[in-house]
Amino acid sequence: MRLGVMGGTFDPIHIGHLVTAEEALYQFELDEVLFVPSARPPHKTDSRQSDARHRLRMVELSIEADPSLSVSAMELEREGLSYTIDTLRQIHAERGKGTDLYFITGADAILEILTWKDPEELLAESRFIAATRPGYPLEKLAEALPDSNSAGEAALRSVSAMEIPALAISSTDIRRRASEGRPFRYLVCDAVWSYIRENGLYR
Ligand code: NAP
Repeated sequence: MRLGVMGGTFDPIHIGHLVTAEEALYQFELDEVLFVPSARPPHKTDSRQSDARHRLRMVELSIEADPSLSVSAMELEREGLSYTIDTLRQIHAERGKGTDLYFITGADAILEILTWKDPEELLAESRFIAATRPGYPLEKLAEALPDSNSAGEAALRSVSAMEIPALAISSTDIRRRASEGRPFRYLVCDAVWSYIRENGLYR
């Protein structure tokens, strides 16, 4: 079993995230991609996000027609900060050690991976896919993952970059557009567009 694990805030989930999941399924021959919306990322203790219940629901609405995509509320249900190492261990405990994990997230987050909790264990638990926007300078990744120590070497082996043109779409831009009354209908799934309007999100 090869399982992709999509980590992110998803505030809101958009078409770029879905294209990323589908491309990872194809390029890395994954069997499934599990979305794991984060609750309290360790590095963002003071930033404000939309209610977890809304972010989770928007992911559910976006993936419901695709059997190769699923979602877990494990980080939302867990007490304390959302450390990726805890999430990966929990998935391995639930799915069995024989499941190969591929953690997928934005390249800018992966640049910091050596500062995350338990980096050596993290790199042993999963491979990492850094999704990049068009024109992203890939040398930034190589510079951030120096091979001068064992964690850096493991990181270089374990991280792959994947360019996703559709990631020109961003959640930040969608929130800004929604708050300014500018169009964003086709940047998200139909059901998410309706959900944002019905619940008055990002106004
Ligand atoms: P974020 O604020 O949601 O995203 C950061 C950047 O990456 C944004 O440009 C975002 O674009 C993009 N992105 C996020 N998720 C993506 C995905 N699955 N596919 C493609 N692009 C994506 O997320 P973050 O807070 O940096 O954290 C990302 C993940 O890393 C989370 O799962 C978080 O828990 C984990 N993390 C763990 C630790 C730790 O364990 N110590 C530390 C930092 C981060 P959009 O805004 O358009 O989504």
